[in-house]
Amino acid sequence: MMGLLRSYCKASHIVSGKAKRRLLSQIYQPGSLWEEKVCEPSELTCRSQRLMLKAALIRSSSPGCFHYLPYAVRSMEKLIRLIDKEMQDIGGQKINMPSLSSAGLWRQSERWDLMGKELFRLTDRHGQEYCLGPTHEESVTHLISSQASLTYKQLPLLLYQITRKFRDEPKPRFGLLRSREFYMKDMYTFDMTEAAAHETYHSVCSAYSNLFHLLGLHFVKVQADAGSIGGTMSHEFQLPADIGEDRLQVCGSCQFSANVETLRPGQEECPMCKGQLKETKGIEIGHTFYLGTKYSHVFNAAYYSDQNQPVLAEMGCYGIGVSRLLAASIEVLSTEDDIRWPGLIAPYQVCVIPPKKGSKEEAAISAAEALYDDVTEAVPQLRDEVLLDDRSHLTIGKRLKDSNRLGYPYVIVAGKKALESPSQFEVWSHNTGDAQFLSREGVIELLQKVQVI
Ligand SMILES: [Zn+2]
Repeated sequence: MMGLLRSYCKASHIVSGKAKRRLLSQIYQPGSLWEEKVCEPSELTCRSQRLMLKAALIRSSSPGCFHYLPYAVRSMEKLIRLIDKEMQDIGGQKINMPSLSSAGLWRQSERWDLMGKELFRLTDRHGQEYCLGPTHEESVTHLISSQASLTYKQLPLLLYQITRKFRDEPKPRFGLLRSREFYMKDMYTFDMTEAAAHETYHSVCSAYSNLFHLLGLHFVKVQADAGSIGGTMSHEFQLPADIGEDRLQVCGSCQFSANVETLRPGQEECPMCKGQLKETKGIEIGHTFYLGTKYSHVFNAAYYSDQNQPVLAEMGCYGIGVSRLLAASIEVLSTEDDIRWPGLIAPYQVCVIPPKKGSKEEAAISAAEALYDDVTEAVPQLRDEVLLDDRSHLTIGKRLKDSNRLGYPYVIVAGKKALESPSQFEVWSHNTGDAQFLSREGVIELLQKVQVI
């Protein structure tokens, strides 16, 4: 034990030295396509898809399937950490279930046929049928039922995973917004009573609201149809957007809002206050369901009560489309040409731009590199968050334009004033559009306030 501890300390001592500079020229960003027309405007593309392709965040593989490239993966890993935090704050425990899901389970819940062509189905060498899971109510309820010793003392039980899901979309479109292979956070909850399950339902909904607030997104929570998942209470979290595929009715006078699927056709009157409903479109980023005993009944998922009697668990399930949320954030926050991220999940927080080689300011290159080293040393949370745009054959203006397109929250330019004594750096804040000149100390003071997940 002591030996282990010692070698750990030794290792952390080694990494506490100067951070290796992260060079923009070394990032795998195959054929960044800003200058070309990558995809002609069509009904199948939208702003986030165009921007993500142009910036080489994603590359298309086959219809509805994408390679996620380094910037996108960094952003998504941050988003996953943020979701993990919110889910674990309300007692969620992370698990990981198989993507291959046995047809037997789906037949038991009668969804093997109900799901129709949406399921990707396959058969193994023994003739056993499977699907690639689009959702995991069957798997998780089977898991719970296979454990004979679950007691009331272990409830509520909140299990979740963040994994790839599969859906055979007839017409994949809008990049990561409607793809055939995607990341989803799915949580399944088990409670003793209906009242307890409702309490859990509200606690997950408030964790969702928290998450979307942290991302700076304006969302609406609407009453929703439970669809093929089933259950008696359901809400969607929607981001209002022109390209959204869900039609919503929002009341102008009270808090009521609903997916039109839940209303009478042509209904224009608010069922709560009789006010006028207004239709908008939305991108669904989260969906919650109170399931009751629909699945626990099928799979006999029971717990032992304080009377030592088996009782069916009351269930809920809760989804967030993780890759969709990433694309939807870009969709609603960006301009036509420039990506804007929720600050917390920007792939890198800071980009440092030294002057061009051979320019009058060339001598400031070393000031920029020293600033890079000072920032990553003085602000530990930014150690892996600062990029040096070392493409010094390009002008500052060209690289500033690129940085604006990529949307780093902070861009620091070492130009003429970096040659003064003491050096002054031009600091752009892309989320507010401000630019200001700051000393080395001023830059560090500003960046110390940056939140990193
Ligand atoms: Zn109303």
